[in-house]
Amino acid sequence: MLQKIYEDLGITPEVYVLGEEILKELNPRFDEIDKVAEINQLKVLKALQDCKVSEACLLGTTGYGYNDIGRDTLEEVYAKVFHTEDALVRPQITCGTHALALALMSNLRPGDELLSPVGKPYDTLEEVIGIRDSKGSLKEYGISYSQVDLLPDGGFDYDNIAKAINEKTKLVTIQRSKGYQTRPTLSVTRIGELISFIKKIKPDVICMVDNCYGEFVETIEPTDVGADMVVGSLIKNPGGGLAPIGGYIAGKKECVENAAYRLTSPGLGKEVGASLGILSSFYQGLFLAPTVTAGALKGAIFAANLFERAGFSVVPNSIESRHDIIQAVTFGTPEGVVSFCEGIQKAAPIDSFVTPEPWDMPGYDSKVIMAAGAFVSGSSIELSADGPIKPPFAVYFQGGLTWQHAKFGILTAYQSVKNAGLID
Ligand SMILES: *Cc1c(COP(=O)(O)O)cnc(C)c1O
Repeated sequence: MLQKIYEDLGITPEVYVLGEEILKELNPRFDEIDKVAEINQLKVLKALQDCKVSEACLLGTTGYGYNDIGRDTLEEVYAKVFHTEDALVRPQITCGTHALALALMSNLRPGDELLSPVGKPYDTLEEVIGIRDSKGSLKEYGISYSQVDLLPDGGFDYDNIAKAINEKTKLVTIQRSKGYQTRPTLSVTRIGELISFIKKIKPDVICMVDNCYGEFVETIEPTDVGADMVVGSLIKNPGGGLAPIGGYIAGKKECVENAAYRLTSPGLGKEVGASLGILSSFYQGLFLAPTVTAGALKGAIFAANLFERAGFSVVPNSIESRHDIIQAVTFGTPEGVVSFCEGIQKAAPIDSFVTPEPWDMPGYDSKVIMAAGAFVSGSSIELSADGPIKPPFAVYFQGGLTWQHAKFGILTAYQSVKNAGLID
Protein backbone atom coordinates (compact mmCIF):
# COMPACT_ATOMS: atom_id res chain seq x y z
CA MET A 1 0.00 0.00 0.00
CA LEU A 2 2.82 2.41 0.87
CA GLN A 3 4.51 1.58 -2.42
CA LYS A 4 1.29 2.50 -4.25
CA ILE A 5 1.11 5.87 -2.48
CA TYR A 6 4.72 6.59 -3.40
CA GLU A 7 3.95 5.57 -6.99
CA ASP A 8 1.08 8.07 -7.09
CA LEU A 9 3.60 10.67 -5.94
CA GLY A 10 5.99 9.86 -8.78
CA ILE A 11 8.36 7.33 -7.16
CA THR A 12 8.78 4.23 -9.34
CA PRO A 13 8.64 0.79 -7.66
CA GLU A 14 12.32 0.27 -8.49
CA VAL A 15 13.40 3.41 -6.60
CA TYR A 16 11.04 2.67 -3.71
CA VAL A 17 12.42 -0.85 -3.28
CA LEU A 18 16.01 0.39 -3.44
CA GLY A 19 15.21 2.92 -0.71
CA GLU A 20 13.66 0.24 1.52
CA GLU A 21 16.68 -2.03 1.03
CA ILE A 22 19.05 0.70 2.09
CA LEU A 23 16.91 1.66 5.07
CA LYS A 24 17.00 -1.87 6.44
CA GLU A 25 20.78 -1.57 6.79
CA LEU A 26 20.48 1.81 8.48
CA ASN A 27 18.34 0.67 11.40
CA PRO A 28 21.19 0.43 13.94
CA ARG A 29 22.36 3.97 13.11
CA PHE A 30 18.84 5.33 13.30
CA ASP A 31 18.48 3.72 16.74
CA GLU A 32 21.57 5.60 17.88
CA ILE A 33 20.18 8.88 16.56
CA ASP A 34 16.93 8.26 18.43
CA LYS A 35 18.93 7.73 21.64
CA VAL A 36 20.70 11.07 21.18
CA ALA A 37 17.32 12.71 20.53
CA GLU A 38 15.92 11.15 23.70
CA ILE A 39 18.78 12.48 25.81
CA ASN A 40 18.44 15.95 24.27
CA GLN A 41 14.65 15.92 24.58
CA LEU A 42 14.98 15.29 28.31
CA LYS A 43 17.70 17.93 28.62
CA VAL A 44 15.41 20.55 27.04
CA LEU A 45 12.39 19.43 29.06
CA LYS A 46 14.33 19.58 32.33
CA ALA A 47 15.51 23.11 31.49
CA LEU A 48 11.92 24.22 30.82
CA GLN A 49 10.78 22.71 34.10
CA ASP A 50 13.72 23.96 36.19
CA CYS A 51 13.14 27.50 34.91
CA LYS A 52 9.44 27.20 35.82
CA VAL A 53 8.20 28.20 32.38
CA SER A 54 4.57 29.19 32.81
CA GLU A 55 1.70 30.07 30.52
CA ALA A 56 2.48 33.75 31.07
CA CYS A 57 5.92 33.20 29.52
CA LEU A 58 4.27 32.40 26.19
CA LEU A 59 2.72 35.85 25.94
CA GLY A 60 4.60 38.89 24.74
CA THR A 61 5.34 42.51 25.47
CA THR A 62 5.32 45.61 23.28
CA GLY A 63 7.18 48.92 23.34
CA TYR A 64 10.36 48.86 25.40
CA GLY A 65 9.63 45.39 26.67
CA TYR A 66 10.64 46.03 30.29
CA ASN A 67 10.11 43.04 32.57
CA ASP A 68 9.37 40.66 29.72
CA ILE A 69 9.14 37.50 31.80
CA GLY A 70 8.86 35.22 28.77
CA ARG A 71 12.00 36.66 27.15
CA ASP A 72 14.04 36.59 30.36
CA THR A 73 12.93 33.05 31.22
CA LEU A 74 13.67 31.77 27.69
CA GLU A 75 17.20 33.12 28.03
CA GLU A 76 17.53 31.22 31.31
CA VAL A 77 16.30 28.08 29.55
CA TYR A 78 18.93 28.44 26.81
CA ALA A 79 21.62 29.00 29.44
CA LYS A 80 20.52 25.76 31.17
CA VAL A 81 20.46 23.76 27.93
CA PHE A 82 23.95 24.92 26.94
CA HIS A 83 25.26 24.85 30.54
CA THR A 84 26.33 28.48 30.41
CA GLU A 85 26.12 31.43 32.81
CA ASP A 86 23.85 33.46 30.56
CA ALA A 87 22.23 33.69 27.12
CA LEU A 88 20.80 36.23 24.71
CA VAL A 89 17.92 34.86 22.59
CA ARG A 90 16.13 37.50 20.59
CA PRO A 91 13.86 38.03 17.61
CA GLN A 92 15.82 41.27 17.08
CA ILE A 93 18.81 39.10 16.07
CA THR A 94 17.86 38.71 12.43
CA CYS A 95 19.88 35.64 11.40
CA GLY A 96 22.97 33.56 12.12
CA THR A 97 25.36 36.02 10.51
CA HIS A 98 23.90 38.82 12.65
CA ALA A 99 24.33 36.75 15.83
CA LEU A 100 27.95 35.99 14.96
CA ALA A 101 28.70 39.59 13.99
CA LEU A 102 27.13 40.76 17.25
CA ALA A 103 29.21 38.35 19.33
CA LEU A 104 32.41 39.42 17.57
CA MET A 105 31.82 43.17 17.43
CA SER A 106 30.76 43.39 21.05
CA ASN A 107 33.63 41.36 22.47
CA LEU A 108 36.46 42.83 20.40
CA ARG A 109 37.94 46.31 20.69
CA PRO A 110 40.19 48.32 18.37
CA GLY A 111 43.70 46.87 18.44
CA ASP A 112 42.49 43.33 19.23
CA GLU A 113 43.06 40.40 16.92
CA LEU A 114 40.63 37.67 15.92
CA LEU A 115 41.99 34.21 15.09
CA SER A 116 40.35 31.40 13.14
CA PRO A 117 42.40 28.23 13.73
CA VAL A 118 40.10 26.11 11.52
CA GLY A 119 40.54 27.80 8.14
CA LYS A 120 38.27 30.11 6.22
CA PRO A 121 35.02 30.98 8.01
CA TYR A 122 31.52 30.84 6.49
CA ASP A 123 31.13 33.07 3.42
CA THR A 124 29.01 35.78 5.02
CA LEU A 125 31.57 36.23 7.81
CA GLU A 126 34.20 37.32 5.32
CA GLU A 127 32.47 40.67 5.11
CA VAL A 128 31.88 40.86 8.85
CA ILE A 129 35.59 40.36 9.47
CA GLY A 130 36.74 42.39 6.47
CA ILE A 131 38.45 39.55 4.60
CA ARG A 132 36.38 40.98 1.76
CA ASP A 133 36.18 44.75 2.18
CA SER A 134 32.82 45.80 3.52
CA LYS A 135 31.25 48.78 5.26
CA GLY A 136 31.28 48.41 9.03
CA SER A 137 33.59 45.40 9.07
CA LEU A 138 35.81 44.58 12.06
CA LYS A 139 38.74 45.66 9.90
CA GLU A 140 37.29 49.17 9.56
CA TYR A 141 37.28 49.37 13.36
CA GLY A 142 40.95 48.43 13.59
CA ILE A 143 40.44 44.80 14.57
CA SER A 144 42.89 42.53 12.78
CA TYR A 145 42.35 38.95 11.67
CA SER A 146 44.59 35.96 11.33
CA GLN A 147 43.82 32.48 10.08
CA VAL A 148 45.46 29.08 10.32
CA ASP A 149 44.18 26.52 7.84
CA LEU A 150 43.50 22.90 8.71
CA LEU A 151 46.12 20.39 7.62
CA PRO A 152 45.44 18.52 4.37
CA ASP A 153 44.14 15.53 6.39
CA GLY A 154 41.68 17.79 8.24
CA GLY A 155 43.74 17.89 11.46
CA PHE A 156 44.59 21.01 13.46
CA ASP A 157 47.88 22.71 12.57
CA TYR A 158 48.96 23.02 16.21
CA ASP A 159 52.43 24.44 15.44
CA ASN A 160 51.09 27.32 13.41
CA ILE A 161 48.17 27.91 15.77
CA ALA A 162 50.67 28.33 18.61
CA LYS A 163 52.66 30.77 16.47
CA ALA A 164 49.53 32.74 15.52
CA ILE A 165 48.51 33.43 19.13
CA ASN A 166 50.06 36.71 20.22
CA GLU A 167 49.54 39.50 22.77
CA LYS A 168 46.77 41.00 20.58
CA THR A 169 44.79 37.77 20.20
CA LYS A 170 41.55 38.39 22.08
CA LEU A 171 39.05 36.01 20.53
CA VAL A 172 39.26 32.69 18.71
CA THR A 173 36.41 31.70 16.39
CA ILE A 174 35.83 28.02 15.72
CA GLN A 175 33.26 26.96 13.14
CA ARG A 176 31.75 23.59 14.05
CA SER A 177 30.03 22.80 10.76
CA LYS A 178 31.91 22.53 7.50
CA GLY A 179 29.34 24.92 6.03
CA TYR A 180 29.78 24.84 2.27
CA GLN A 181 33.35 23.57 2.25
CA THR A 182 34.76 20.09 1.84
CA ARG A 183 36.60 19.97 5.18
CA PRO A 184 35.20 17.61 7.82
CA THR A 185 32.77 18.97 10.38
CA LEU A 186 34.32 19.13 13.84
CA SER A 187 33.00 16.88 16.57
CA VAL A 188 32.41 18.51 19.95
CA THR A 189 35.23 16.38 21.37
CA ARG A 190 37.70 17.70 18.79
CA ILE A 191 36.55 21.26 19.47
CA GLY A 192 37.29 20.60 23.15
CA GLU A 193 40.82 19.42 22.33
CA LEU A 194 41.47 22.55 20.28
CA ILE A 195 40.15 24.82 23.04
CA SER A 196 42.32 23.20 25.71
CA PHE A 197 45.37 23.64 23.51
CA ILE A 198 44.59 27.32 22.95
CA LYS A 199 43.74 28.01 26.60
CA LYS A 200 47.02 26.44 27.69
CA ILE A 201 48.86 29.03 25.62
CA LYS A 202 46.59 31.95 26.49
CA PRO A 203 44.07 31.24 29.26
CA ASP A 204 42.14 34.52 28.97
CA VAL A 205 41.41 34.31 25.24
CA ILE A 206 37.69 34.08 24.43
CA CYS A 207 36.82 30.88 22.54
CA MET A 208 33.66 31.30 20.47
CA VAL A 209 32.04 28.49 18.48
CA ASP A 210 29.85 29.08 15.43
CA ASN A 211 27.34 26.38 16.35
CA CYS A 212 25.13 26.68 13.22
CA TYR A 213 23.70 23.31 12.09
CA GLY A 214 25.37 21.49 15.00
CA GLU A 215 22.89 21.94 17.86
CA PHE A 216 21.47 18.67 19.26
CA VAL A 217 23.37 16.47 16.79
CA GLU A 218 25.41 15.20 19.75
CA THR A 219 24.55 14.90 23.44
CA ILE A 220 27.12 17.55 24.39
CA GLU A 221 27.62 21.06 23.04
CA PRO A 222 30.84 23.07 22.66
CA THR A 223 30.12 24.91 25.93
CA ASP A 224 30.44 21.53 27.69
CA VAL A 225 34.06 21.32 26.55
CA GLY A 226 35.34 24.79 27.35
CA ALA A 227 33.83 27.17 24.79
CA ASP A 228 33.14 30.62 26.26
CA MET A 229 30.35 31.31 23.78
CA VAL A 230 28.19 29.38 21.30
CA VAL A 231 26.32 31.27 18.62
CA GLY A 232 23.61 30.19 16.20
CA SER A 233 20.46 30.83 14.21
CA LEU A 234 16.89 30.02 15.25
CA ILE A 235 15.85 29.21 11.70
CA LYS A 236 18.22 26.28 11.88
CA ASN A 237 18.28 23.45 14.46
CA PRO A 238 17.33 25.14 17.78
CA GLY A 239 14.22 26.85 16.38
CA GLY A 240 12.77 23.43 15.61
CA GLY A 241 11.18 24.77 12.43
CA LEU A 242 8.73 26.91 14.39
CA ALA A 243 10.77 30.02 15.20
CA PRO A 244 10.13 32.46 12.33
CA ILE A 245 13.27 34.55 13.04
CA GLY A 246 15.98 34.93 15.65
CA GLY A 247 19.43 34.09 16.88
CA TYR A 248 21.14 33.16 20.13
CA ILE A 249 24.39 33.67 21.98
CA ALA A 250 24.96 31.51 25.06
CA GLY A 251 28.06 31.73 27.19
CA LYS A 252 30.00 33.51 29.92
CA LYS A 253 28.10 36.30 31.62
CA GLU A 254 30.53 38.96 30.47
CA CYS A 255 30.47 37.85 26.82
CA VAL A 256 26.66 37.79 26.74
CA GLU A 257 26.44 41.15 28.51
CA ASN A 258 28.77 42.72 25.96
CA ALA A 259 26.58 41.37 23.17
CA ALA A 260 23.41 42.69 24.83
CA TYR A 261 24.84 46.21 25.20
CA ARG A 262 25.78 46.14 21.54
CA LEU A 263 22.42 44.74 20.35
CA THR A 264 20.40 47.39 22.16
CA SER A 265 22.49 50.18 23.66
CA PRO A 266 25.12 50.85 26.29
CA GLY A 267 23.20 51.25 29.54
CA LEU A 268 20.17 49.30 28.32
CA GLY A 269 21.48 45.83 27.49
CA LYS A 270 19.16 42.91 28.14
CA GLU A 271 16.54 45.04 29.94
CA VAL A 272 14.79 46.11 26.73
CA GLY A 273 13.59 44.34 23.61
CA ALA A 274 9.90 43.54 23.34
CA SER A 275 9.09 39.97 22.33
CA LEU A 276 5.91 40.94 20.43
CA GLY A 277 4.07 37.67 20.98
CA ILE A 278 6.63 35.54 19.17
CA LEU A 279 7.92 33.62 22.18
CA SER A 280 5.60 30.63 22.11
CA SER A 281 7.17 29.61 18.80
CA PHE A 282 10.64 29.95 20.34
CA TYR A 283 9.71 27.78 23.32
CA GLN A 284 7.83 25.18 21.32
CA GLY A 285 10.51 25.15 18.62
CA LEU A 286 13.23 24.50 21.20
CA PHE A 287 11.08 21.74 22.68
CA LEU A 288 10.80 20.07 19.25
CA ALA A 289 14.39 20.79 18.16
CA PRO A 290 15.98 17.50 19.34
CA THR A 291 13.55 15.33 17.36
CA VAL A 292 13.48 17.66 14.33
CA THR A 293 17.29 17.57 14.24
CA ALA A 294 17.18 13.76 14.49
CA GLY A 295 14.86 13.56 11.48
CA ALA A 296 17.13 15.81 9.43
CA LEU A 297 20.13 13.70 10.42
CA LYS A 298 18.42 10.49 9.31
CA GLY A 299 17.61 12.15 5.99
CA ALA A 300 21.25 13.15 5.48
CA ILE A 301 22.45 9.60 6.18
CA PHE A 302 19.79 8.07 3.93
CA ALA A 303 20.79 10.38 1.08
CA ALA A 304 24.50 9.63 1.54
CA ASN A 305 23.79 5.92 1.23
CA LEU A 306 21.40 6.21 -1.71
CA PHE A 307 23.59 8.48 -3.83
CA GLU A 308 26.84 6.76 -2.90
CA ARG A 309 25.38 3.49 -4.13
CA ALA A 310 24.51 5.24 -7.41
CA GLY A 311 28.19 6.04 -7.83
CA PHE A 312 28.33 9.69 -6.71
CA SER A 313 30.82 10.99 -4.21
CA VAL A 314 29.16 12.12 -0.98
CA VAL A 315 30.48 14.12 2.00
CA PRO A 316 30.15 12.85 4.69
CA ASN A 317 30.19 9.34 3.20
CA SER A 318 27.67 6.59 3.92
CA ILE A 319 29.30 5.33 7.12
CA GLU A 320 31.07 8.33 8.71
CA SER A 321 29.92 9.68 12.07
CA ARG A 322 27.86 12.88 11.90
CA HIS A 323 28.40 16.21 13.60
CA ASP A 324 26.02 18.44 11.63
CA ILE A 325 22.97 18.03 9.40
CA ILE A 326 24.52 19.03 6.05
CA GLN A 327 24.99 16.52 3.24
CA ALA A 328 26.97 17.18 0.07
CA VAL A 329 26.54 15.13 -3.11
CA THR A 330 28.92 15.71 -6.02
CA PHE A 331 27.32 15.16 -9.40
CA GLY A 332 30.10 16.35 -11.71
CA THR A 333 27.56 17.86 -14.13
CA PRO A 334 25.25 20.90 -14.01
CA GLU A 335 22.33 18.63 -14.99
CA GLY A 336 22.87 16.58 -11.84
CA VAL A 337 22.73 19.63 -9.58
CA VAL A 338 19.65 21.03 -11.34
CA SER A 339 17.66 17.78 -11.43
CA PHE A 340 18.43 17.10 -7.74
CA CYS A 341 17.19 20.56 -6.74
CA GLU A 342 14.09 20.17 -8.92
CA GLY A 343 13.29 16.97 -7.04
CA ILE A 344 13.69 18.61 -3.63
CA GLN A 345 11.43 21.49 -4.71
CA LYS A 346 8.81 19.08 -6.04
CA ALA A 347 8.66 17.38 -2.64
CA ALA A 348 8.10 20.62 -0.68
CA PRO A 349 4.91 21.42 1.25
CA ILE A 350 5.00 25.02 -0.04
CA ASP A 351 5.71 26.12 -3.64
CA SER A 352 6.02 22.52 -4.85
CA PHE A 353 4.68 23.62 -8.23
CA VAL A 354 7.52 25.99 -9.08
CA THR A 355 10.70 24.99 -10.92
CA PRO A 356 13.93 26.33 -9.41
CA GLU A 357 16.45 27.78 -11.87
CA PRO A 358 20.11 28.78 -11.54
CA TRP A 359 20.56 32.56 -11.24
CA ASP A 360 23.25 35.17 -10.55
CA MET A 361 22.90 35.69 -6.82
CA PRO A 362 24.62 38.67 -5.19
CA GLY A 363 27.83 37.67 -3.46
CA TYR A 364 28.53 34.56 -5.56
CA ASP A 365 30.94 34.19 -8.46
CA SER A 366 28.80 31.68 -10.39
CA LYS A 367 25.13 30.98 -10.94
CA VAL A 368 23.48 29.25 -7.97
CA ILE A 369 20.35 27.08 -7.86
CA MET A 370 18.29 26.87 -4.67
CA ALA A 371 15.40 24.61 -3.78
CA ALA A 372 13.30 25.66 -0.83
CA GLY A 373 9.62 25.29 -0.24
CA ALA A 374 9.51 26.29 3.39
CA PHE A 375 6.94 27.52 5.90
CA VAL A 376 9.59 29.95 7.17
CA SER A 377 11.28 31.72 4.27
CA GLY A 378 14.87 30.60 3.86
CA SER A 379 14.69 28.19 6.77
CA SER A 380 17.29 25.50 6.34
CA ILE A 381 16.05 23.19 9.08
CA GLU A 382 13.27 22.59 6.57
CA LEU A 383 14.11 20.40 3.56
CA SER A 384 16.25 22.57 1.30
CA ALA A 385 19.11 22.30 -1.17
CA ASP A 386 21.38 24.54 -3.13
CA GLY A 387 24.35 24.25 -5.41
CA PRO A 388 26.65 26.60 -7.29
CA ILE A 389 26.75 25.85 -11.02
CA LYS A 390 30.51 25.35 -11.19
CA PRO A 391 32.89 22.40 -10.82
CA PRO A 392 32.76 20.02 -9.04
CA PHE A 393 28.97 20.51 -9.42
CA ALA A 394 28.08 19.55 -5.88
CA VAL A 395 24.77 20.08 -4.19
CA TYR A 396 24.42 20.77 -0.46
CA PHE A 397 21.24 19.83 1.20
CA GLN A 398 19.87 19.72 4.71
CA GLY A 399 16.80 19.66 6.83
CA GLY A 400 13.39 18.08 6.84
CA LEU A 401 10.97 18.85 9.66
CA THR A 402 10.04 15.18 9.90
CA TRP A 403 12.01 12.08 8.93
CA GLN A 404 9.11 10.93 6.75
CA HIS A 405 9.24 14.14 4.74
CA ALA A 406 13.03 14.04 4.45
CA LYS A 407 12.76 10.48 3.14
CA PHE A 408 10.16 11.44 0.56
CA GLY A 409 12.20 14.48 -0.53
CA ILE A 410 15.34 12.42 -1.02
CA LEU A 411 13.49 9.72 -2.97
CA THR A 412 11.94 12.43 -5.17
CA ALA A 413 15.35 14.01 -5.76
CA TYR A 414 16.81 10.60 -6.61
CA GLN A 415 13.93 9.91 -8.99
CA SER A 416 14.44 13.29 -10.63
CA VAL A 417 18.17 12.63 -11.18
CA LYS A 418 17.31 9.17 -12.51
CA ASN A 419 14.62 10.52 -14.85
CA ALA A 420 17.24 12.93 -16.22
CA GLY A 421 19.20 9.86 -17.32
CA LEU A 422 22.06 10.39 -14.86
CA ILE A 423 21.72 7.09 -12.98
CA ASP A 424 22.03 3.70 -14.71
C1 LIG B 1 24.05 29.36 8.18
C2 LIG B 1 25.37 29.59 8.75
C3 LIG B 1 25.79 30.88 9.09
C4 LIG B 1 25.01 32.12 8.80
O1 LIG B 1 23.69 32.05 9.16
P1 LIG B 1 22.57 32.90 8.36
O2 LIG B 1 21.37 32.67 9.18
O3 LIG B 1 22.49 32.31 6.99
O4 LIG B 1 23.01 34.31 8.34
C5 LIG B 1 27.04 31.00 9.68
N1 LIG B 1 27.83 29.93 9.89
C6 LIG B 1 27.47 28.69 9.55
C7 LIG B 1 28.39 27.53 9.80
C8 LIG B 1 26.22 28.47 8.96
O5 LIG B 1 25.85 27.24 8.64
